[in-house]
Amino acid sequence: MELLKKRILEVGIVASNQVLKLDAILNHQVDPELIMEMGKEFARLFRETKPDKVLTVESSGIPIAYTTALQLGVPMVFARRKKTLTMDQDTYSERVPSFTKGIVTDIMVSSHLLSKGQRILLIDDFIANGDAARGLIRIVEKAEAELVGVGIVVEKLFQNGGKSIRERGIRVESLARIASLDNGQITFD
Ligand code: 5GP
Repeated sequence: MELLKKRILEVGIVASNQVLKLDAILNHQVDPELIMEMGKEFARLFRETKPDKVLTVESSGIPIAYTTALQLGVPMVFARRKKTLTMDQDTYSERVPSFTKGIVTDIMVSSHLLSKGQRILLIDDFIANGDAARGLIRIVEKAEAELVGVGIVVEKLFQNGGKSIRERGIRVESLARIASLDNGQITFD
């Protein structure tokens, strides 16, 4: 997506040769128009797969999953990272290593929000090693729902996440593919 790549070059901060900060548009401040364009693009890519729901994990996945769901005319569910007092006791939960926090966290979805046979589209902001996506995929599997694909805003090709999920026969679409962050430079594929 050319507009996204242009904005990444304008505002992206290379924190290390592994991590790109997009706090100006995605991970802290949100650019509503750009996020809407991403939602349109994911909807265009995945509409034919007929998703019943869009699933993401809080917090940075939420705006993108929301605009995608809005364009597709379906609900959006976000996996929570903390159990709340109001949350159902009956949840699907998975333990996933967090790439940016360097710790292991639990992600959970109330079981009544995912049903057997429902067609689920996963959306997230970044894919690095693929742990977050694999955790969400396991939740979809536990619910006996059907995964129709995975949409990622930024795929870092020098990490293995996207590749490992594609190798399982799952369709992964990314809007910007980064080949390298070496020497403080953002190099697209
Ligand atoms: P993975 O689980 O694929 O290793 O990492 C994906 C998760 O870690 C994403 O949900 C995202 O929040 C975070 N993440 C991974 N790489 C980056 C990065 O380069 N920049 C930012 N801002 N977040 C990242």
